[in-house]
Amino acid sequence: MMYNIYEGMDMKGTVLRLEKSSIFDGDGLRTVVFLKGCPLRCRWCSTPESFQKQIQTTLDGSITYGQVMTVEEVMVEVRKDIPFYFHSGGGVTLSGGEILAQPDFAYNIIRRSCWEGINTAIETSFYGDWLKIERILGCANTAFVDMKIMDPLKHKQYTGVENDIILDNIRRAGQGIKGLKLVIRRPLIPGVNDSKEELEALGAFLGELPGVDHLQLLPYHRLGTDTYRKLGIPYQLAELEVPDEEHMKWCAETTEKYVKTII
Ligand code: SF4
Repeated sequence: MMYNIYEGMDMKGTVLRLEKSSIFDGDGLRTVVFLKGCPLRCRWCSTPESFQKQIQTTLDGSITYGQVMTVEEVMVEVRKDIPFYFHSGGGVTLSGGEILAQPDFAYNIIRRSCWEGINTAIETSFYGDWLKIERILGCANTAFVDMKIMDPLKHKQYTGVENDIILDNIRRAGQGIKGLKLVIRRPLIPGVNDSKEELEALGAFLGELPGVDHLQLLPYHRLGTDTYRKLGIPYQLAELEVPDEEHMKWCAETTEKYVKTII
């Protein structure tokens, strides 16, 4: 199949990696395009190789993270999996890092995928300019948005940025956008954002937003610790225990009074 010239096809961005046939990043089998670069520094982040937008290598030089690609080069990879999308109800998911660190590149991929009839999803922290977010959402079928910590001081302490922009953007999207399924995600970090007070504040906040489809609770995990070592970045939460099933259930019971919750 030949594709015509289209606006934005030659725009370049930095892609961390492409993952095929993922079942964790939206409906069906998905091609996940991870973009490099993130303005946050969540202490529990499992992809420290995504922090910098620049291409980088491990301390011993054995692994290189990232490559510069054009929008069309990404689309060539995405199109290869169209038969899988068709049979599974899948599509393309843009993830990071933070896709809003390269908002125009992200927009052009999402817009083109949408134009070609490919189901689109994004994973984001919503830490960015609303106008850029709004035009991406206009082409997205599903948005998975992290709401990491309601307490503003703790948010700053554990992610490196204020949460006011994020809350504002969730409030706006949460009023409802036609054709968009909005899913809020909370990575549960023991002792950081899993208290009754914190979860009730999150539930009450989301309960006021008619456009939120549901809240997803994700247990803390230690994936990525090896990458920290390879990059020479200290991992600050090495002592934390992974939450058990009972605690996850209690967290879900605490929020589902306000908003539909899925573990
Ligand atoms: S927003 Fe995501 S990619 Fe960025 S530091 Fe936090 S967990 Fe990592």
